[in-house]
Amino acid sequence: MPAQSPKVPPVDRERIRLSAPRLNASFCAEIEKELKCDQIAIDEDERLLHSFGKSYPDLFRVRRGEVDHPPDMVILPETNANVEAVVRSAHRNNVCIIPFGGGTNIVGGINPMDNARMVVSLDMRRMNRLVSIDAYSMTATIQAGALGPKLEKDLQEKGFSLGHFPDSFEFSTLGGWLATRSAGMQSDAYGKIEDMVVAIRLVTPSGVLETRVVPASSAGPDLNQWVVGSEGILGVITEATMRVHKNPAVKDYRGYLFPSFEDGVNAVYACVEQNFPPSLIRLQDSGESELAFNMKSHPKGLRALIQKPIKKYLLHKGYTAPCIMIVGFEGESKNVKHSQLQAFRIFRKNKGFPLGKKVGQTWSVDKFNVPYLRDYIMDYGCMVDVSETATSWTQIISLHRAFTQAIQEKFASEFGHGYVGCHISHTYKTGACLYFTYAARQLPGEELKQYYAYKKFATDTIMKNGGTVSHHHAIGTEHLPWMEQEVSKTGLQALRAVKKSLDPQGIFNPGKLIPEVFIHSLLEQPLESD
Ligand SMILES: Cc1cc2nc3c(=O)[nH]c(=O)nc-3n(C[C@H](O)[C@H](O)[C@H](O)COP(=O)(O)OP(=O)(O)OC[C@H]3O[C@@H](n4cnc5c(N)ncnc54)[C@H](O)[C@@H]3O)c2cc1C
Repeated sequence: MPAQSPKVPPVDRERIRLSAPRLNASFCAEIEKELKCDQIAIDEDERLLHSFGKSYPDLFRVRRGEVDHPPDMVILPETNANVEAVVRSAHRNNVCIIPFGGGTNIVGGINPMDNARMVVSLDMRRMNRLVSIDAYSMTATIQAGALGPKLEKDLQEKGFSLGHFPDSFEFSTLGGWLATRSAGMQSDAYGKIEDMVVAIRLVTPSGVLETRVVPASSAGPDLNQWVVGSEGILGVITEATMRVHKNPAVKDYRGYLFPSFEDGVNAVYACVEQNFPPSLIRLQDSGESELAFNMKSHPKGLRALIQKPIKKYLLHKGYTAPCIMIVGFEGESKNVKHSQLQAFRIFRKNKGFPLGKKVGQTWSVDKFNVPYLRDYIMDYGCMVDVSETATSWTQIISLHRAFTQAIQEKFASEFGHGYVGCHISHTYKTGACLYFTYAARQLPGEELKQYYAYKKFATDTIMKNGGTVSHHHAIGTEHLPWMEQEVSKTGLQALRAVKKSLDPQGIFNPGKLIPEVFIHSLLEQPLESD
């Protein structure tokens, strides 16, 4: 498919022109008194970098030089006092604020949507310190702008790790993870980001919301969890106290092969049910496994000689559309050994064929690079997107089948062919996350219309088959049409009331998370929720 497509590279930076910033004079005068010159930027490069995230429509537009809604100003706070001063002044002058972490979200989460007011992108990158660590209680207070590598380096120097490794780890921040309810690849061992929060600090137009560093509390609804997932619409998270754990003594990754996705799912389920969950499970279906096989270089010499009879044996045993599973174990050597023994026994029982450590090690080296293939594929005129969801164990197989079949049939009728693949990336006692990737040829001149039609088709299919609208990518603007279906009318009413109370003028990240009528006219193709 992409091989014969002509190359469509992005336009040069020089061809991108931004509209002049709209500046609120009173706000500018106030913040100039509070901040240093190098904390305020209105130059085109900074505004451009803060205009878009990493969704397909974002990348598509910026690659063509279409940047219609840049923020008017970028502010780089360095202290809590800086943040509070900016929020107070923005509230007084009715200026919008979009909290910005690493800009890696893929749901339209940091794109300016308000055309009437001045928009500030509040980039937290300078607030990136490990503030304190309580080694005995195993908690660490960390500023929200810390990028993954800096945060882990600071913790590891003290012998600890947060254990949160999303694929975007290198370029995303603690604040962004918290605001989007992110999930890392070791979530089976350490939980999603919301499971790790002990206390949080949120600066809102109505004041500072702070929770206390206590292991548990029965003081009403959990306010930490009101802030987690708030996507910058209630205020800005400046720091959080997180549960950390000792650096694992052993890290062991390896590969297994299953004859079918169903066999792999049975093995994963048995591990979870019997309480031997590995710290990492990535079970790829046959579509994704085939892609992985095709991306590998062909073995030569002795390796080829050894692999030939193994392949023959596996084919004979019914591995005709095999599924790869990467499995990881972390922790104290004795515990790891025990869990491994039990898990390997379960895999064997479910027709798992061991591929050894090399497969696991190769995966570990490439793990942060693979998702960026999307940008490369776009160079060749392809629409490529991901849909991630979670559902109960009872519905895992049926949802996987329904989604894969529906997209394959749609591709077949519209283009003759396309790609769809999936993996299980996170597991729970009650179910798991399914992560689908699909790609097809772009329809020239109708690329965004085509994308929104697929987005609607894919998300409707997920919702109809018992999945959540998003397991870890959040809502932003992309998933707004399904919000009511996800949380109910009354749930939305409650969210609106919280927003009104903390941000009465609606200055924080307008147009995200809570569906408002005006947002639909700003989307390329209006979507209906049913
Ligand atoms: C290649 C790639 C791989 C990815 N893999 C994963 C993955 O494995 N797991 C996963 O969960 N996600 C993944 N994502 C999505 C994305 O990385 C996450 O949503 C991440 O949590 C965003 O963090 P960020 O710092 O980049 O936030 P941004 O994109 O800057 O912001 C995201 C949202 O959070 C808000 N926000 C940011 N900082 C703050 C703050 N301090 N206070 C209040 N609100 C704030 C923003 O306003 C916005 O609404 C991936 C993205 C890409 C491009």
